[in-house]
Order: sequence, then structure tokens, then C-alpha cells
Amino acid sequence: MTTIELPKAYDFKSTEGRIYQWWEEHGYFQPVNDPNKTGFDANRKPYVISIPPPNITGELHLGSALFVSLEDLMIRYHRMKGVPTLWVPGSDHAGIATQLQIEKGLRREGLSREQIGREEFLKRTWAWKEKYGGIITDQIRRLGASCDWKRERFTLDTGLSRAVREAFVRLYEKGLIYRGPRLINWSPGLKTAVSDLEVEYSEEPGKLYYFKYMLEGSENEYIPVATTRPETILGDTAIAVHPEDERYQKYIGRKVIVPMLRRVIPVIADAYVDREFGTGALKITPGHDPNDYQIGQTHGLEFISVLDTNAHINENGGPYQGQDRFECRKNIWDDMRTAGLVIKEEDYMLNVPRSQRGGEVIEPMISTQWFVRMESLAKPALEAVQSGRIRIVPEHFTKVYYNWLENIQDWCISRQLWWGHRIPVWYCNVCKGVTVARTDPTICSHCGSTNIEQDPDVLDTWFSSALWPFSTLGWPEKTPDYEYFYPTTMLETGYDILFFWVARMIMFGLEFTGDIPFSQVYLHGIIRDECRRKMGRTNDNVIDPLFIMDKMGTDALRFSLLVGSTPGKDTNVSTKQVEPSRNFVNKVWNASRFIITNLDKIGPPTKSNPEWTLADSWIWARIQDLVRNVERLFQTYQYGEAGRQIYDFFWSEFADWYIEVAKLQLLEGGDRAYYTASTLVRVLDLCLRLLHPYIPFITEEIWGYLRKAALDSHLSDLADNWAAGLIIASWPEPRQAEGWENRCIMDFSLVQETIRAIRNLRSEKNVKPGKRIPAILSAGEKTELFHQQKNIVSALAQLDPKKFDITTDLPPKGENHVAIAIGSVEIYLPLEGLVDISEERDRLNKALDEAEGQANRLEKLLSSSFAQRAPAEIVHKEKEKLISYRETVEKLKKQLDALD
Ligand SMILES: [Zn+2]
Repeated sequence: MTTIELPKAYDFKSTEGRIYQWWEEHGYFQPVNDPNKTGFDANRKPYVISIPPPNITGELHLGSALFVSLEDLMIRYHRMKGVPTLWVPGSDHAGIATQLQIEKGLRREGLSREQIGREEFLKRTWAWKEKYGGIITDQIRRLGASCDWKRERFTLDTGLSRAVREAFVRLYEKGLIYRGPRLINWSPGLKTAVSDLEVEYSEEPGKLYYFKYMLEGSENEYIPVATTRPETILGDTAIAVHPEDERYQKYIGRKVIVPMLRRVIPVIADAYVDREFGTGALKITPGHDPNDYQIGQTHGLEFISVLDTNAHINENGGPYQGQDRFECRKNIWDDMRTAGLVIKEEDYMLNVPRSQRGGEVIEPMISTQWFVRMESLAKPALEAVQSGRIRIVPEHFTKVYYNWLENIQDWCISRQLWWGHRIPVWYCNVCKGVTVARTDPTICSHCGSTNIEQDPDVLDTWFSSALWPFSTLGWPEKTPDYEYFYPTTMLETGYDILFFWVARMIMFGLEFTGDIPFSQVYLHGIIRDECRRKMGRTNDNVIDPLFIMDKMGTDALRFSLLVGSTPGKDTNVSTKQVEPSRNFVNKVWNASRFIITNLDKIGPPTKSNPEWTLADSWIWARIQDLVRNVERLFQTYQYGEAGRQIYDFFWSEFADWYIEVAKLQLLEGGDRAYYTASTLVRVLDLCLRLLHPYIPFITEEIWGYLRKAALDSHLSDLADNWAAGLIIASWPEPRQAEGWENRCIMDFSLVQETIRAIRNLRSEKNVKPGKRIPAILSAGEKTELFHQQKNIVSALAQLDPKKFDITTDLPPKGENHVAIAIGSVEIYLPLEGLVDISEERDRLNKALDEAEGQANRLEKLLSSSFAQRAPAEIVHKEKEKLISYRETVEKLKKQLDALD
């Protein structure tokens, strides 16, 4: 038998990479039941997650570290349960983000994308992707993610591009895709349509401009109107008032004159107008405002766009044509002032839409784009959640989901970019017909002309993401993977992309596969910093998970993120909060090291019938309780609470109590030592299994040592049927509580409370640590229990075993005896001679000096001019402090008197 040598301290740096490689080399990340291999059983239900694909431009931030940790926990748990698990990894081509990266590089070379052309630009982008696109996946590996990398996908790879093409053509053929002018978010900097997700609103000071809309055919009648953007006056096509507004009722149906352009537009009535806001009359610019767009549609108004793609005024702006939008704002206002149309200006807080990428002001604009008709897609998606086929956690997000789907708008899917899935539409230059095809056509499908041109735009990145759960499994082909692993099980992501991603996957899944894409949706919260600010690149508050992993190890980071997270609730994180997790990881190492290095000292048992001690039974009952609780919490997705309970059990019960008792039991040798070691091994084994989904690296490393040490020892039968690695070891299955468990837990708790009470009193009375003191304990009906546990109580409470009496009746209390009562148990501690009187006097005198000094200082302060100058509440606080110091002085004086 050889002693297993564990390093004194856990070195995560030399462990994490080695363990990850070992897992991967042994194929543990691949599903145990693989439809592409022999022996496949189609009846075993798999557990499948498709990873939310990170952008190839991305680098790990705490948000991605959280979702990777959560999904890895779910996957590891099910894998250990023996369920065939598959976690499909991959990345997203991230249209705008990637294109901006490449354009930045070009600018450094003094080039633009237009100069090098589309083909060369795409060549460069692919080269960039090959070089840098793997950074994020390497970082995900570092987190311990047990994804099946053999099934890794990329949204622009051949298979997924085919899926995108198929989806587009099918929707087009069903009449669900159309092209037309609609109001969209336009980014003048990037010169493309952008999604709502790429627009951020910022509060900025601005002005509210009041002016006169003169009535046609009248010299002095006017309707006062206010706007924050005077340049949009050029696009006004109506003035709207409330139908019951007495001030303006008389003007309804008449015409007003657009300032400077002298176009004539109608005055209309609409109950949407808020009479209390501004002047109560609204200028309507359907071409540049989403609300006005709706009103324009209802009333059949003209839609006039006054801006070009650079956000300069176009030909519809008359004399202002060519001017930048902000320059025009100033000029038209000056001209209106000259024309006597200005009423006043007011300071006003604006909610300015800015581009998340470029920072410039986003302009709502009418633009000809491709759209998906959403209404018929939304209905089955609503039904899937209403009927319970898909469950959203936390549940309150279902209402948000319903509300969005019930009011769904058509989806603008075209982007004026080069990097992405090019729209599979060809325009004929001869007959003007449109050809939409699964394979690139060479001729027009209407007239047969070869004079055709492909639409230059690409699809919104979210279009390919919406196909992710099935395109990654081979759809539209009915591959063995698709047949077996689809529908997937769990979709886990941040609640902020419920609409952009989750809802669209459900709609597309139902449309294209006829089935739900997943049955469970788990929405985690957003990670915020200590000041509750959302973390992002724009804030200077980014905590780098790579830095934390370098400093404290991956397990510490994972544990902090997982234990700190509650479904749908935002999490606060700082580097400081990772320290307790790091300490816990070290605690697990040290406790395990003690157990493992002691196994070779244990001899074989002489009796086959174990005699368990109360502590043995207690810890075994407690861990069964823990196993039951963890299972229950996992079923309701409360991973944070489960982690806290495992942490508390390991630290406060197993390490602090059982291992301390076990040390005494091991000293007894013989069968007692054997069965104590057996309990230590069995409890540690269960703890490591429960902890594995949280802190996979250190638990795998320790478990390897534990397995080897157990197999090499007389306890080998315990580890005989253990798997080759913890990652594939079986999950502890909960069992019903047995009758003896509760009694053992109650009894041991009483022993613990007794020991704690004595310890507290010792520290209160300043008894030196290590000093053995006498005690008399009366336990009534628990006398027998304390007789049995005498060794433990005297060792852990540091009592003198020769002067530790356990009786049924207490003698009269001695003069210097201190009494403690815990339920039916009473303890006398004769403290006479235990406390060093002169040391205690010094200690009390020192404390007295300090308290008197503080009291004197405060008395002086409060009698000075401070009391008149300072705010009343501060003076009050100082007075309270003084009272408290005076009380302390009195108490200390009494205690000093008692010493004489
Ligand atoms: Zn044609």
C-alpha cells in the first residue's frame, strides 16, 4: 500500500487544462447514445441544449461566463444521471459587428470596402474569421464547457447557409416575405437598417420648439405646435388634434401651410392625441416617426421622406436640400423666426435613439426593405406556450412574451451590409421580374433573360439565429442527429433577448419543422456591477472573467456566478465576491486531502457488521437530506440555492463537525477507524458528485485521487464500481428518509448546541484556547446520550475529561459556577481559577481606558460650538454614541470590581 501524495495546495493552473484535455480525449462530451453509431437506442430520451451562439468578434464577458456555466451545470447534471446529453456549440457571424472590425482594419491601411470591392472584402473577412473567430470558443473551453466540439457549427457554414436559403424560399413561396417601403431604424453612420436591439436610448438635454401652423386662407389664424426636431417639419403631412378638443375643433377638416415649403396639409382628428401634452396639437411626420407612421396609415396620409441615406436633406426639403439634418434644424428655425412663425423655445430632456455600434443618432426612416409577415407565425408560437408545450422560467416572462406576440410588427430582415447571408433574390433588368431560388439561377424565371442581378443586401443576423436549434442538427435534411436530438430540451439565455431570439426560434421552429424547437426556456438575469449598472463595453465597469480565472481559478468564478444567480433576476458581481468561492474551493481541497492521505493507515475490518457512531449516522442522514433537497431545487431550476446548501453542508457540517469527530474516531483504531474512514469516503464521494456541475475541475481532480486511494486501501469495495471519471459517474439519487434519520439528527444537534454554548461562554469569559476546564452536565432523559458522546463533547469543547461529570440531577450551583441551559440540558462551568485574574484585569483596564477616552472626547465635542453648527441629526448621533460609551464604562467598572 502506498500513500497517495496530494499537493499541499490546489494548483488550478496546472490542473484545469490537463483535466479538460483528458475529458475531451476520452470522448466524454459526446452523447452516450449516438444515432450515427451502432448500438443506438432510439427509445432513450436525450437532453439537448443548443448554445446561444456567441459572436465571432466576441470575447468572454461575465454575461457569457454565466450562461456557459449554467448550461454546463445542466448538461453535467443530466450526463451524470445517465441521460444521453448533447450540447451543440457554435458561433454567430455577427453581421454588423464583424463588418465594422474589417472596415476598421481597412481604414488603417487607408482603404474602404467600396475601394476593394465585395469579393475581396469577403475574402478578407473570412481570413479574419479563421484567425480570430476561435478566440471566444477557446475561452468557452477554458470555462470547462462540456460541449460536443465535434458538432460545432457556424451560422455561415455550408449547412447553415443552406438552411437559411431553404427558410427564405419557403417563406417567400408562402407569401410571408415581401419587399416594400416601411419605416425602419436607419443608421446613417453604418448606412444600414438596424434592429431595435441595436438602438440604445440616452437622456440628453435638448429643446422643445413652439411655432405657428398658419391656416390656409387666413391672415392671422394659426394652430400652435411643438416639436423637438424642427427639420422634420419638411416631412409633415398633417396636423392632428383630439376630436373633442374645444380649442381646435373648429379647424378639423381645414388646411394648414407647412412653414417655408408652403405645402398645404389637412387638419385631422385622432383620439390618440394627448390634449394635455405640449399645445395639444400634433404635427404628423409619417416618414420619420413610428407613432406618426401608425397615424399616417390609419388616415391614409402621404408619406414623405426628407432625408437621404447620409441623413442629409433630400430633394423633398426644398431650399434645405443637401444640408446635414442638424445644420438644417438650425437653419429652418432661423428662417421661421424671420418669417414670424416662432412662438418660443423651452429646455427639454430628450430620449435620443443612438446606434449601439456607432453612437450616432438613429433616424426613423421610410426605406425599401425585405420584411417577414409575422402575424400568422405568431399565432402557433403563442399557442405553444399557452398550452404548456413550452415552459418559460421564470413564469412572469410568459406575460411579456404573450404581449409581444399579440402586438407583433413585421420583421425587417434586410441589411445593407456585405457580411452575411446574401438575400436569394434576383431582379431581371429586362422584364423587371423577381426570381427567388434555392440554387443560384442563371436566367430570369419569367422571361429567361440572363440579364439578372442579385439583391445586394444580406439578411439580419437574427434570421439565421432563429433557425439555430434545428439548422445545427442538419435541417432541412432529415439527418440521424435531427431525427433523434430534435426537438431540443432546454433553451437557456438572458431575458433581454426573449423577443429577438427566443420567440423567433419558436415561430420558425413551428413553421419549418412542425414542432416546438425546445420544451423549456430558462431566462437568466443580466449581470450588473456592484453599483447595479449593466455591464457592457460602453461602461467602464467591465470585470474581465479571464482575469478572475487567471487569479483565482475557473471553479471559483463558476461557483460565484452559479450561486449568485436566480432565474430572471439580475446579479451583482465584483472581484471581491469571488474570494469566498476561492476559499471554498481550497477548503474542499484541504478536507479531501486529509481524508485521502489517511486511507492507507486503515487496517481491514474484523467484523462485517458495522457499528456506526452517532456522528456517523448523523452525517449520513444529513447528506441524504441534502441529496433530496438538491434534487428538488434542481427540478425547479434553483441552482443558486442548491449550490448554497451544498456549500453550507460541506463547510459547516462535514468539515467543521464530522471531520473533527472523525479525527477522534480514527485515533481509536481497529473497526472504529475502518468504519469512520468508510463514512468519510462515502460522504466525500457524494459531495464531489453534487459539486461537480458547479466546480468541475477540482472535483474531478480530487475524485481521481480518492478513487485511487480507496482502491489501493482496505476500503476498495467502496470504489469498485465507480466510473473512470467523475464526469460520467452516477448522480446521487435521492431516497426516502428512513425512520432512524430524524432521531440521529436531533440527538447530534443537541450535542452540537451543547458544545457551541460552552465554546461561546469560554470566549466570553476569555478562557485561553486549549485550556481544559471542568464541567458538570445534567441531561435528564438524554443522560445516556451524553455518556456516549462524552469524548466528543470534552474534546470539542475542551473540557477536562477527569473533571467532566454527567449526572441526572445537578448539585446546587457553586458560587463561581456559570450556568448554561439548552432545552433539557443544563451545564455548570466552575470558572474559578480558570481566568488569569491579572491578565483579565489588564484586559478590562485597557478597555476601560479606551471607553473613557472616547466618552471624554465626545463630551468635549458636544459642549463646543460644534453642537450649534452641525446638523441636528449628526449631533444626535454623537450624543447617542456618548451614552453608549458611558454604559460601557459602567459595565467594565462592575466587572473589574467583581475580580477583587
Ligand atoms: Zn425577366
